[in-house]
Amino acid sequence: MRAKFVYRCNECKHENYIGDRNKTKNPDKMEVQKYCSNCNAKTLHKEKSK
Ligand SMILES: [Zn+2]
Repeated sequence: MRAKFVYRCNECKHENYIGDRNKTKNPDKMEVQKYCSNCNAKTLHKEKSK
């Protein structure tokens, strides 16, 4: 079972990336460093469930 979610910039709250995740294999929410075009920098992006 896969769930779609968005990665949201922790700084500006823009939703920059879409991904999916196997909830059975990876039950934890993802937190990754990604480039945010709004912040113009690498920031922490957190998963937000749709
Ligand atoms: Zn940002």
